[in-house]
Parts: sequence; C-alpha cells; structure tokens
Amino acid sequence: MTTMTTLTGPVLVLIDHHAGAVRPPTLELLTLARAAGDVTALWFGDGLDGALPLLAEYGVTSAYQVVIDSPVANAMHLPAVAAEAVAAAVRQSDAALVLLTSTFENKEIGVLLAREIDAGIVVDANGVTIAADGAVETNQSAFASTWNVRTQITTPRAVVAIKPNSIPAEPAPSSAAPGVVTVTVTPSEDALRTRIVERTERVATGRPELAEAQVVIAGGRGTNGDFSAIEELADLLGAAVGATRVATDEGWIEHTAQIGQTGVTVAPKLYIGVGLSGAVHHTGGMQSSGTIVAVNGDPEAPIFEIADFGIVGDLFTVLPQLSAELRARLG
Ligand SMILES: Cc1cc2nc3c(=O)[nH]c(=O)nc-3n(C[C@H](O)[C@H](O)[C@H](O)COP(=O)(O)OP(=O)(O)OC[C@H]3O[C@@H](n4cnc5c(N)ncnc54)[C@H](O)[C@@H]3O)c2cc1C
Repeated sequence: MTTMTTLTGPVLVLIDHHAGAVRPPTLELLTLARAAGDVTALWFGDGLDGALPLLAEYGVTSAYQVVIDSPVANAMHLPAVAAEAVAAAVRQSDAALVLLTSTFENKEIGVLLAREIDAGIVVDANGVTIAADGAVETNQSAFASTWNVRTQITTPRAVVAIKPNSIPAEPAPSSAAPGVVTVTVTPSEDALRTRIVERTERVATGRPELAEAQVVIAGGRGTNGDFSAIEELADLLGAAVGATRVATDEGWIEHTAQIGQTGVTVAPKLYIGVGLSGAVHHTGGMQSSGTIVAVNGDPEAPIFEIADFGIVGDLFTVLPQLSAELRARLG
C-alpha cells in the first residue's frame, strides 16, 4: 500500500477473535491501519489481556475494552448493540476511520455504525489509503474481478470493511505496550428489538475458516457427493473445503461452504477447483485467488480459462495421486 498522508484522528480496528485467539484477517487490518494513522484496537468479550502482546506487535498503541451494561443475555452479539458500542468508542477516541473484517456480521455492524456516526461506508474493500487531502479512499475488486473500483469517502468519518486475504500481515517495525481504556455501553431500546434465543458453536472441522484460509479446495457436481478425496487433500495441505452451489443445494456439504456470488468470497494464495465447471456465479467468489488450479474431466470446461494450472482428468483418479505424492514428500 502507498500512503502519502496519515489521518489526524486514530484508526479504530474491531478485533475479531475466537475465545481470545485473534483471527488472522485482523492482523491484515492492523497492518493496513498502521499506514493510515495511530491504531486503536476495539475488543469485545474476554481475553484482551492475553492478546495485548500480539496487538502491540502489530502496532496497536491503545486498546478499548467494551463492556455492555445490559441484563439481556448475549446482548453484545447483537449487531445493533455492537454498532452502538463501536460508535461510543469512536466518539471517545475521536477516531476518523473504523476498519472491520468484511464478514456478514461485521458488514451489518458497519452499516448500522455508519448511520450512528454519520460516516460513509465501503464494504468488501481490498485496500484503504489516505489521499493527499486526508480523505479515506478504498479499492474494491468487482464483477468477478473484472473491475477495480477506487472510492473516496467524503464524510469526516469513514467505515471500511476489508476482505480477508487482501494483503500480507506484517508486524510493526517497533512496538510498545498499549494502554487499555474501558468503554461501558448501555444499549438503547432500539438496539434490543431483537433477542438472541440461542447461540450454538459450529462443530470444529479442524480446518481453517473458508474466508480466511490460505489454501482452499472446492468441489462441485463432479464429486457426485463424495468429498472424501477433497477432504483428504485438504487435510494434507491445511486447506479449507469449499463448494459450488450445486454441491451445497444437493446437501453434499453445508451451505456455509458455498463459494461465489451468493456465497462466501475467498482470495487464498492457492485455490484448487475440482469437478466444477467455473460458472461465473462461482468464479465471482474466487477469481482474486493467487494461484488457481483446476481438475476437470472436460478440457473445454470454462474454469480452465482462468486456471494457472489445469489437470484434465477424473478427480477420483487425480486427487488420490496428488495426495499420495504429497504424503510421500511430506514424509
Ligand atoms: C442467481 C444465481 C446465483 C448463483 N450463485 C452461485 C454461487 O454463489 N456459487 C456457485 O458455485 N454457484 C452459484 N450459482 C450456480 C452456478 O450458476 C452454477 O450452476 C454452479 O456453480 C455450477 O456448479 P458446478 O460447477 O458444480 O456444476 P456443473 O456446472 O454441472 O459442472 C460440473 C463439472 O464437473 C466436471 N466433472 C464431472 N465429473 C467429473 C469427474 N469425475 N472428475 C472431474 N471433473 C468432473 C464436469 O466436466 C463439469 O465441468 C448461482 C446461480 C444463480 C442463477
């Protein structure tokens, strides 16, 4: 990223974490935030103390711990409540820019937040820079990566949601222990119009989150419902498993695995598409991947038009060979 100017107010970064473990895309946000200004972290829930050394390593100079003062169970997980809490931290810190990871939940928080603080918002950005006049500018890759869009946010405050895997995360050249400030927020009645009845954690697969993974293997109709060869290769490569809509609609794999226009957008370093044709609705969600490999029995399949490496063959023959070779090399 080339940033000529930095902001006068701090950059507030919403830290995504799971039980105190900071999610990798957050480190990308912190790397971007550092180039835009002074970085303040915003933390919901427990575990901030344990994460402070990592946040400091990535250039956080102060951290806000959010406390939600409400008898309503799980109130902090309501996007409207979270938006009010982030807004309170923006006012308290006088932040000029809020960065969030572009997840479904954060995009909802971001839009509600932008309304609260009269800010312009851009979601699904893959970069943010500060123009010479101090305005926040974003880059987005649109329409299946066929267009790059640069947007300037014209309000004094800006909210930007950044897609995972947009830039490599890099620690700051130097770091100091961040000071911690507690922000206590009492949610408004409006924010509590919905209640969370139940929250159930998805059973862990042991594989990385699809949207965050550095390697993704996706299967389509060609699997005929048998994802075992894909899963075997995924586990050897430490990859996440994705799918086309055909595969999720058939119930062969959960809907959260769907990549594409109406699913998750991925931009891993390596994407391997197996037994899928490369329909635009699918490629729109993976075309920004670093290296694209396709395995398909049909040499005319459209996926080969965007693939860096293509293997024409039956996936049930090719994948086990790939896995065997990898296993041999990995010892
Ligand atoms: C509004 C809308 C939104 C959509 N959103 C999405 C979306 O978000 N994500 C998405 O994925 N789709 C989406 N779709 C559906 C999309 O248009 C395609 O229908 C879908 O992506 C095709 O899935 P597929 O590639 O698995 O199947 P197909 O197009 O049928 O391709 C299957 C491929 O597998 C190959 N094959 C078969 N057997 C083997 C084998 N044994 N070994 C190797 N190759 C084999 C075939 O040669 C073929 O190329 C959407 C559609 C609409 C209308």
